[in-house]
This record gives sequence, C-alpha cells and structure tokens, in this order.
Amino acid sequence: MKKYNFNAGPCILDRSVIEKTAQAILDFNGIGLSLAEISHRSKDFQPVIDEAEALVKELLDVPEGYSVLFLGGGASLEFCMIPYNFLKTKAAYLNTGVWAKKAMKEAKLFGEVVEVASSADANYTFIPKGWECPTDVDYLHITTNNTIYGTEIRKDLDVPVRMIADMSSDIFSRPVDVAKYDAIYAGAQKNLSMAGVTIVIVKNDALGKVDRQIPTMLDYRTHVEKGSMFNTPPVVPIYTALENLRWMKAQGGVEAMDKLARERAEIVYGEIDRNKLFRGTVAEEDRSVMNLCFVMNDEYKELEKEFLDFATSKGMVGVKGHRSVGGFRASCYNAQTIEGCQALVACMKEFEAQH
Ligand SMILES: *Cc1c(COP(=O)(O)O)cnc(C)c1O
Repeated sequence: MKKYNFNAGPCILDRSVIEKTAQAILDFNGIGLSLAEISHRSKDFQPVIDEAEALVKELLDVPEGYSVLFLGGGASLEFCMIPYNFLKTKAAYLNTGVWAKKAMKEAKLFGEVVEVASSADANYTFIPKGWECPTDVDYLHITTNNTIYGTEIRKDLDVPVRMIADMSSDIFSRPVDVAKYDAIYAGAQKNLSMAGVTIVIVKNDALGKVDRQIPTMLDYRTHVEKGSMFNTPPVVPIYTALENLRWMKAQGGVEAMDKLARERAEIVYGEIDRNKLFRGTVAEEDRSVMNLCFVMNDEYKELEKEFLDFATSKGMVGVKGHRSVGGFRASCYNAQTIEGCQALVACMKEFEAQH
C-alpha cells in the first residue's frame, strides 16, 4: 500500500533526494568510495558545502554581509548559542509555544529576558497581536512556525529592533526578508534535510558585540572563519540538504514552495472546516500551512482512536497529534504532495460517511 508521510519531524523528503543520498553513500561521484568514508576537507566534499551555501543564499536571496553555517547540535543548541553571541543585557522573546519557551529558558542564563507577549494561557492556539517591542533590547526572538500547535507567523514582522528567528519548521517555504534578521536558524529535519545538521544564517557585523568569553565551538565567529569546517561537519545530512536545495530550486524556489504550501493547506483546512466530525484547533488567521492541527468535534470525541486506526489503514502515517494538543496533526512540509493531501481528505470524507 502507498504510504503518505505526515510526520512532524524528521519528516517527508522528496524520493529523489533520498535516492541521491543513498547513491552517494554507496559510491560518491563515482570515486569508488562512500560519502561516509572520505575527508570533509577533500576536494570531493568541499564543492558540496560550497554549493549548499550558495543555494541557500540564492533561494532566500540572502543579502551581502551574511554567512551561512552548517552546524551540529540541532535547533536546541541554537537556543543557547543565540544569547551567548547576541545578548548583551536584555532581549525580547515572543512566547508562542514550547520551542519559544525553551529558547527563553536558555536566554535567561545570559541576561534579562522580556516576554513581549504570550498565548500560553490559551494553550498557544493563537499568535499574540497588538504587543509592543521595547526598543532597548539587543534583539527580538520569534519562532516563525509553531510545529506542535500549528500556528505560524508567515511574514516578516515590522519591529523597531533586530530580529532573530527560529525557522526550524518553515524555512524555505516562503520568501524571507533576511535583512530584518541578525540570525535565522533551523534544525534541518523539517524542511531541509535529515536530522544532524542545523543551518544558521548570521549577519557578520552583528557578531563580536558581547563582552563575555565564548567557548570556541559555541562562538559563531569560529564557524564563519572556518566555513563550517572548524571540526568535522555532519557530511551526510549536508549532502542531503544540498540535494534538497537543488530539488527546491528545480521546483521553482521558495515562491513555488509557498504557492504549493497554500494549495495544500486550502485542501486540508477546507475539509477540516467542511467535515462535521472535525474542527481546527487554532485561530483561523494564524493557521500554519506547515503543521495542520485538528481534533474531533466534541460530539464525536469518542471516535478519535477509530479515525486514527482508519487513517492508518489507508496508508496515512504520522497524523496523530502532539500529546500537548491531542487529536491530529497533518504536517505538510515542502515535499508533501497535493496527492497526499487529497488522500487524507478522501479518508476524512469516507470516515464521515460511515458515521
Ligand atoms: C523541532 C523544532 C526544534 C528542535 O529542533 P532540534 O533540531 O531537535 O533541536 C526547535 N524549534 C522548532 C520550531 C522545531 O520545530
């Protein structure tokens, strides 16, 4: 049976990206050796990281003066590296979910943290609006897509300070005005690659402004100076990222990804809103086009497990909601197909007809 992958992360990648990675692991570029067994400093690997960096800059139209880094440690390590490198005295954080909260927790180790707004009291079902950003902070940190709750800030905010963003689960799904940010970071396993690499886009002249000493590996300048090769980088995930970046470019870049994301979301949210069994969980204007969360309507609550089993029997994978929201979550990252969304919708319709 054909499987439709709605996993929240690690998640779907285009089949061609997986196949090219598999090939490179068996025999890289026809050199008779695996990508996994050659030096990261070899003449065979250097072009991989160079092209990946160039494609990131091309796809996101990154202005001059920024570096693209490929690091280890996941987005979670960035929660600590960001304040280590950027927080002098005070930073502002928008609390839109568990990931934002984790980022705030680390920042508090380095200075004062102002929570500009929070939707925690409503289980993060909306993006707070109408708040003011203090002007005396070193940066405002936002989480552009809240993977667990299914809310998204799908635009570049206008605030009077520099921004830093965790874009782990929606990077490369829309054009971004990078110039508004001192740093953008993303764990790769949601829209870029397999787990193991984190991409960081950092403004060079925003670095080196804090007084504290920074351990070598946690200092962005180390990685800027060494082109992400201070130590051995995660070569296989970087290669997968390269193949995925090439794939995204061939599809028409982030504008095409954006269009496709909106089409997919319209199909699935359209059915959530139409079907008497289901309802969405977040404020309509804040609905994520990457993670689509929904639950059974109250009068059908007891059918939750039955629907999950039914969907699984139809080939749907990973539609169970996160434990802090319950219900269902259909993650529709860049490689998700219209066909996959239609299959999910067909499944929801068929289940409705049975009840
Ligand atoms: C998954 C996720 C993270 C954590 O990423 P790791 O790479 O596992 O550390 C952080 N932020 C967001 C928005 C995420 O979706």
